[in-house]
Formats: sequence, C-alpha cells, structure tokens
Amino acid sequence: MSTPASDAGTLEGTLFVVAAPSGAGKSTLVNALLEREPAISLSVSHTTRPPRPGEEYGRHYYFVERVEFEREIAEGIFLEHAEVHGNLYGTSRTTVAELLCQGKDVLLEIDWQGARQIRKSKPDCVSVFILPPSRIELERRLRGRASDSAEVIERRLHNSREEIAHAHEFDYIIVNDRFEDALGDLQSIVRAVRQRSALQWRRHETLIAELLA
Ligand code: GDP
Ligand code: ADP
Ligand code: 5GP
Repeated sequence: MSTPASDAGTLEGTLFVVAAPSGAGKSTLVNALLEREPAISLSVSHTTRPPRPGEEYGRHYYFVERVEFEREIAEGIFLEHAEVHGNLYGTSRTTVAELLCQGKDVLLEIDWQGARQIRKSKPDCVSVFILPPSRIELERRLRGRASDSAEVIERRLHNSREEIAHAHEFDYIIVNDRFEDALGDLQSIVRAVRQRSALQWRRHETLIAELLA
C-alpha cells in the first residue's frame, strides 16, 4: 500500500536563513541548491543597491530608491531590514508569511543583522553560515566575480570580518572550499531538517496510526 505524501493538513514550511561574507559563494551555492531542491522558494529582497550588470528587477532584487525603502520601513512591510555595505536591504513580511502558510520552505539570503531579527520573530528558523576557505580565496572570488568596483570590493572585504565574527550565532557553519562538497553539506542540512520528528509525526499521522493499530 502506498502512503500519502502528506497526511496532515497544510503544515507550515521551514524558514531557512543563509548568510556569508560577500564573495564566499552564498548566492552560487543557494542557486545550485534550488536546482536540486526546487520546492524551496527563494525570497527576493528589496534593496537600495544599484543593479549589477545582468541583474533583473523582481528576480534578483526589487531595486528601489532610498526614500521609497524608508517609507516601506515606516509602513512596516519588512520582516527584517538592515543596512549592509552602505545599502538598505529588507525581506517582505507578507511574501514570506504567505509561502510558509502554503507549506512551502522559504530561504532568505540575508546578512547577520537580518538573521538576528529573524531568529527573534521566527525562533524555529534554521540558519546556515557560509565561510570561505581562506582570506586570500575570499579576495580572489570577490575580485574574480568582476561585478563590483574596486572601492565596493574593498568595502566588502573590510566588512567581512564583522560578518564572520557572528558565524557562531548560526545553527550550522559550512566551509565553501570544494564547491560540490559545500553544496552537498547544504543539501544535507535541508534534508535532515525535513525529517525532524515533530514534522514527520504530523506529516505521517495516518501511517503512524496504522502502524500502531
Ligand atoms: P552578495 O550577496 O555579497 O553578492 O551581495 P548583495 O549585494 O546581493 O548582498 C549584500 C548583503 O546584503 C549580503 O550580506 C546579503 O546577505 C544581504 N542581504 C541581501 N538581502 C537582504 C535582506 O533582505 N535583508 C538583509 N538583512 N540582508 C540582506
Ligand atoms: P556571495 O553571494 O557570497 O557574495 P557568489 O555566490 O557571488 O558569492 O560567489 C563569488 C564568486 O566565487 C563567484 O564568482 C562564484 O562563481 C565563485 N565561487 C563560489 N563558490 C566557489 C568555490 N567553492 N570555489 C571557487 N569559486 C567559487
Ligand atoms: P549584494 O549586494 O552583494 O547582493 O548583497 C550584499 C549583502 O546583502 C549580502 O551579504 C546579502 O546577504 C545581504 N542581503 C541581501 N538581501 C538582504 C536582505 O533582504 N536582508 C538583509 N538583512 N541582508 C540582505
């Protein structure tokens, strides 16, 4: 007899938070994870940063002017927001809430300040910090990405120490040395979280009732 995929009504999805110093490989890892785990929804942030070449409105970010962002903060539309590398970034409260209510897992790519705010309002979230394998490699990746000016790269390198100093606040830390290994580590965290007994007990109520009968 086959078991239904889900016995329980809609269970709220899990909120994943991923942070890293700029250039550690966070976006590349997250994009590869989403190919392997397409059921995860990536939250698209709002930012006052100007778009990089190739970045699209609504796909990479909702690019907005600072006055508009500040108005949105006052209106309370953000679940969290923070100033990072001189730009404002924020996560939409309603988008995340709607996806979680539909039972979808949601992933936020945010900085440590935002992660701290999320932990307060959503203590069940699962947070992951990505470290580069060395400072030299971090610098090489930031420069190699060739998407930012020399000044922006210097600022990001300078800010990386502050970001890394908060890594211990996260549930998991992954060192992104060999890409495939780091991707496997990230995927294994997602898969383990999905098998947590509190979720599985509800997801498989009918199966468990039958097994206990
Ligand atoms: P990259 O991730 O280093 O390539 O650069 P970005 O300019 O895309 O992001 C800059 C920083 O802002 C990173 O630390 C992100 O994690 C953070 N960030 C992006 N979106 C959000 C957000 O919605 N909220 C918060 N708090 N931080 C964000
Ligand atoms: P972040 O989102 O953390 O700022 P990116 O995902 O943009 O970082 O990655 C920065 C650069 O490093 C990109 O050019 C990416 O292709 C490269 N990169 C990511 N992971 C690795 C890895 N394990 N080995 C070598 N290069 C990597
Ligand atoms: P970038 O400008 O390179 O895309 O992102 C720079 C930093 O901003 C990254 O560390 C990224 O995680 C962070 N960031 C992006 N979106 C958000 C967001 O919505 N909230 C917060 N707090 N940080 C964000």
